[in-house]
Amino acid sequence: MPLETLFLFFTAGLMAYATIQHATSALEPPIDKVQFVFAAMTALMIPFSILQVLMMQAQSESGYIWALKANLSTALLFATLLPWFIALYTELKSRWHWGLSLALLTLAIVNLWQPYSLQYSEFSGITSTQLPWGENYTKGIGKNGILAYLTATITILVYIHGLLAFWHHYRRLRRWLDLGLFLALILFLAATIMGILVRLSILDWVLPGPLGFIAMVLIMSIALSISTRHRLKTSEKRFRTLVEQSSFGIQIVSVNGELELTNPAWQSMIGLGANDFEQGPITLDHYVQQQGLLPYIKQGFAGESVDTPPLQWTLPSTIDTLQDQQTRWIHTKINPIRDEKGSVSHIILIHEDVTEEQQIENAIHRIAAGVASPSDTQFFQQMASNLTELFHIDAAFIGAIDEQDSEKVTTLALFSQEASPANDHYRLSEELICPNGEQKSSYLLSNHLANFPLLTLLNDTGTPHYLGAILCDSSGQAIGLLALLNRSSVQLTGVNPDILAIFVARASAELQQMRADQRILRMAYDDYLTGLSNRAFFHERLSQTLSEAQSSGNLGALLLIDLDHFKTINDALGHDVGDAVLRAVATRIKDVTGEKVLLARFGGDEFVVLMPQNTTLIEVAEQQARDTAQHILDTLKAPLSVGGRAFSVGASIGIVVFPQQDETELDILRHADMALYKAKNHGRGNIQSFIPALQVAAATRLKLEEGLRGAIANNELSLNYQPQVDVNGRCIGAEALLRWHHPELGAVSPDEFIPIAEETGLIHPIGRWVFEQACKDLSHWLEEDLPFLGHLSVNVSPWQFIASGFIDEIRNSVEKHKVDPRYLMLELTESTLLQDRQETITKLELLRNLGFQIALDDFGTGYSSLAYLKDLPLDQLKIDKSFIDELGITGSKQPLVESMYAIGLHMRLAVIAEGVETERQRALLVEMGGKNFQGYLFSKPLTESDFTAWLTATQRPR
Ligand code: C2E
Ligand code: CA
Ligand code: CA
Repeated sequence: MPLETLFLFFTAGLMAYATIQHATSALEPPIDKVQFVFAAMTALMIPFSILQVLMMQAQSESGYIWALKANLSTALLFATLLPWFIALYTELKSRWHWGLSLALLTLAIVNLWQPYSLQYSEFSGITSTQLPWGENYTKGIGKNGILAYLTATITILVYIHGLLAFWHHYRRLRRWLDLGLFLALILFLAATIMGILVRLSILDWVLPGPLGFIAMVLIMSIALSISTRHRLKTSEKRFRTLVEQSSFGIQIVSVNGELELTNPAWQSMIGLGANDFEQGPITLDHYVQQQGLLPYIKQGFAGESVDTPPLQWTLPSTIDTLQDQQTRWIHTKINPIRDEKGSVSHIILIHEDVTEEQQIENAIHRIAAGVASPSDTQFFQQMASNLTELFHIDAAFIGAIDEQDSEKVTTLALFSQEASPANDHYRLSEELICPNGEQKSSYLLSNHLANFPLLTLLNDTGTPHYLGAILCDSSGQAIGLLALLNRSSVQLTGVNPDILAIFVARASAELQQMRADQRILRMAYDDYLTGLSNRAFFHERLSQTLSEAQSSGNLGALLLIDLDHFKTINDALGHDVGDAVLRAVATRIKDVTGEKVLLARFGGDEFVVLMPQNTTLIEVAEQQARDTAQHILDTLKAPLSVGGRAFSVGASIGIVVFPQQDETELDILRHADMALYKAKNHGRGNIQSFIPALQVAAATRLKLEEGLRGAIANNELSLNYQPQVDVNGRCIGAEALLRWHHPELGAVSPDEFIPIAEETGLIHPIGRWVFEQACKDLSHWLEEDLPFLGHLSVNVSPWQFIASGFIDEIRNSVEKHKVDPRYLMLELTESTLLQDRQETITKLELLRNLGFQIALDDFGTGYSSLAYLKDLPLDQLKIDKSFIDELGITGSKQPLVESMYAIGLHMRLAVIAEGVETERQRALLVEMGGKNFQGYLFSKPLTESDFTAWLTATQRPR
């Protein structure tokens, strides 16, 4: 085979080899574009070489032209890639290569459409030439056109562009490889210029073919192997650095169980020195041995990826810090590493320190465990003990800020290793202010002793160092305090602030909930009106006090307080005033009883005081209770100012001392009720103690209440009449007095049954009956022309007077019985008139306009003042029997009674003295100016028939 052909085939083979080399290296990730373009260039050199052989051995003109066209286009495609290669290799920023490549690509295509290729504008045929060594080859003869020169110019421009680029590149990096490429490109350029000159027939020589490119291929191969080695080295270095500097602990074990690599992170993670264990069989590794990692490692070698659970590891050296630093939690991942054949060659152990996560998880577990605590106390106690354990401190404190007193902190839990403090209340030395939610760490109180708000606590626990946090509710109000207390300095590191924050949040939530619960409880147990305890709470405390009293032998006392005439105040002055009075009364009683004694409102106007007594003697206990009761009555006497009005409120108090026998809670209450009833019956403003005999009275009361309901229907009611006389004994009127004959109990005093009638509302039908009966009897006397002069007085209960239909009712009665109202006098008490002043006056005037007369009964016992009476439209004042009784005792004039007569005189009112029993009383009254009298001295209340008989017997006919 001819030498030239041999050379060209050899070159083609060489290029094929280079193509494979560069292409495989280019495709190996990461994809290398430079190598890729270069591989394409070497690949183009293969057809280029072969086509040149075909040209040289062409036998016909057409065969020659075909090979020439193909050869030239391949060369131009190669030249198209060259600027790309240069640009990529030198990382050129200019866009020149775009233009050059595009021009060359165009020429490569245009070449195929030319009749004789770009090289010839005219073609005259082929000829055979001999090479110097005697070898023959075919050669074309023709004229070169403008396109041939243009192509040559652009090709040379590409080279110049490349040379410049390589030179700059070399200057920049000073790498001999770049210089080599630069020189190779010069060589290549020389060969190309030679080829161009031959093709343009300027030089008569054989085409140099791919010769010039071989130098470049050689240099690029060297560059390739160098860069591959470099790449390997950097990747290995990178890998090493990664392993060395990784915060994960990393161990690499070969398939034969040898530990090939251990990184420093792992050594410090398990607390071993660098020299402790770095190489050798993995089976000797302490950690692997102790934690039983071998099965996992085996799984790794079997090709599985394994995750171990977090394993607890105790560091060999003891570091004394706040948190449990000696204990670490380590989580390991084991991954197999495979070689090219896919079999496991190594395994990699990646250890992660999950201590912090584990600590948080533990803390959460502990908190979660606390949620199940049956009571708040246990919850906080549990939390305090968890805190001491988790933070390795001497004591932990959780306290609640008092809702009323923001300086008072009550211990919710105090867990102390040694000291057991006596205090359960502390006073804050400074105000606690919750910061807004974001500043988590700032609610941690600083560690400066002087700033600690609970100095006494530190003394109590003997721990001068602390770290505290404020517990806030959701609205950002300070509601409590949590503190870690320690004998040495307390510092939080790592996740500890977060863990503490979790505890603080949990404690805050629990405390807030506790407050809400207490508020609900208080709502259930507090009286909304007065803020005192209510009946429910009282019952609870009573049974508690009773059982305590029964076991200790000490006595307890209960005071049942009922306001006198409160119903009148309430009905007359309105509920607002009534409520205000109740509140004022509550405050006054509270002032007397103090904080230690339970004061509750029992509903309505009843209050109850529960006083545990430190005595076993009934007399002592009773005296103490009486003293308190008296104190309460005295305090209530001072005028209350409510809604611009000043008046005093009387009260009756029933006392019971317990236990006297085996009373139940209900017995105690019933006994107190009886004592109170007795007190009320003894005239208001009285104190009575329960004595067992009263039980009968209570039974009676129940009987009375039942009996009273049927009294009218059963015709058990009747009216008595007590005459009223003047100085000469002449009848000036009479008072109708109600009598009730109970079928079993016999005659019952109105003093006994009227209050019951009032409290049950039966006073209304009874009152109507009285008025009816009085009008009926009166009309009889007048019809029969009896010597009845003056008026008939009828008692009107406050409740009757207040009722809206009262006036209509009595008007109906007088009309029905055709009685002139002038004959009727209504007896009202002061309490009746103690209502809205204007309304009272209007009502009284209305009655007087109808003709009725008005008497003020029991005058002197109430609140009456001259100013008060002044504008009331009255006709008569009735001096109360108690004043007349006094006259009997002292036997002398009474300034009080004298002033009553003066008032009457001044106000032009008739004054009558009631309850006159003795001649002496009568004489004294006459001396003081008395003109009208009523009393046993003249006549007891008489039945209707006795009264008419008395009239006929003693009075002159009309
Ligand atoms: P009161 O209105 O102060 O009636 C006078 C009471 O004194 C009557 O008692 C009468 O019997 C009694 N009394 C009169 N003179 C003497 C005396 O010289 N010595 C003594 N020791 N007592 C004398 P009575 O009838 O038991 O009535 C008691 C109260 O019952 C009355 O006090 C009155 O508040 C009430 N009451 C009586 N009848 C009625 C009535 O029809 N309606 C209303 N709402 N209350 C009535
Ligand atoms: Ca009366
Ligand atoms: Ca009276």
